[in-house]
Amino acid sequence: MFQASDRGTGDDQRPSAPDPGALLAGARLLVADRDAAAAAATAEVLRTHGAAHVRTAASPREFRAAGQAGRGWDLAVCDSALAGDGLTEFLEDWHAHHPAAPVIVTEDRPDAARAVAALRGRAADLVARHDPDALVSSAAHALARPRQVPRAATAAAGPERVGMLVVGAHPDDVEIAVGGTLHRRADDGWDITVLTLSPGANGGDPEQRRREAHRAAESMGARLVLEDLPDGSISDDSATVRVIERTVAEAAPDLVLVHSDHDTHQDHRAVHRATRVACRQVPRVFCYQSPSATVDYRPNRFVPLREQDVEAKLASIRAHGSQSSSRWYLEEDLLRSTARYWGRYSRSRYAEPLEVLRDAAPFHAH
Ligand SMILES: [Zn+2]
Repeated sequence: MFQASDRGTGDDQRPSAPDPGALLAGARLLVADRDAAAAAATAEVLRTHGAAHVRTAASPREFRAAGQAGRGWDLAVCDSALAGDGLTEFLEDWHAHHPAAPVIVTEDRPDAARAVAALRGRAADLVARHDPDALVSSAAHALARPRQVPRAATAAAGPERVGMLVVGAHPDDVEIAVGGTLHRRADDGWDITVLTLSPGANGGDPEQRRREAHRAAESMGARLVLEDLPDGSISDDSATVRVIERTVAEAAPDLVLVHSDHDTHQDHRAVHRATRVACRQVPRVFCYQSPSATVDYRPNRFVPLREQDVEAKLASIRAHGSQSSSRWYLEEDLLRSTARYWGRYSRSRYAEPLEVLRDAAPFHAH
């Protein structure tokens, strides 16, 4: 087995003993083998280790068709004989269309020549074809590794790096509403900025909240811009608009997420209104659900989440340690079951909802 040298960097390359069950549970897996029965057997092994979404293919044509049909594959497993002599080109073709989904190559008798071809094709690993334990371990490692999408591959795939700005009134608003979405999109290689308008003076020691807010954003793969508007009395006037415009100009987002207008908290409504004005040139503006959202909140877009996205969301909320003991809506079973509930509207176990305010350009990702 090898770990391809151009995926991940430094200490991130080999996380110690990732839990296969948790990683496989939320992942979309595509398994290809020249023998359909062998593909089915491999899929079964992955399912017994917790995988919920596994699709199989038994020819290069089926593999490519499945690749196009399914959106957002997290991992592919491919028998090297199915790829044929042009293993490197076969893998390059996959990466060009699915830059965020690593490929594990299976091989009857892994040898140096095959290893070199797999390495050149940037395979995540090369494992023996009928070794379920090796495959499960390799899949867990590949899913645990942070995705480093090569620039060339992203360009070949069409859309360039998506920029997302997420605006919230208070520290932890964004994590509670769309922490899973942020983690998933950071994994996809999106460039994510969180703009928090108030340091949250009404909810504890401001300095401590500030440190926690940065740690939480970093844990989701986002960078944080923390402004200093007054907690509890944020207005939707031109001063607030200007503060938001500053970050919009700097981040140049393709997509903005913000509080909904259907929210009982006056700060949230003010931030919603000021953001609408500040983001008048941004093609896509969607609203997320805060715990204070009203029943008029009407989502019509759902971001499917994997188990690891939900875990990352909970971890990012825990990073706001000074708040977690004092608020009912931070209870983990509520956060998890809310994501589970919204999952019924997507094709995944968990999801986070979004209300489309503006969608002026066709969007390649859900
Ligand atoms: Zn808030």
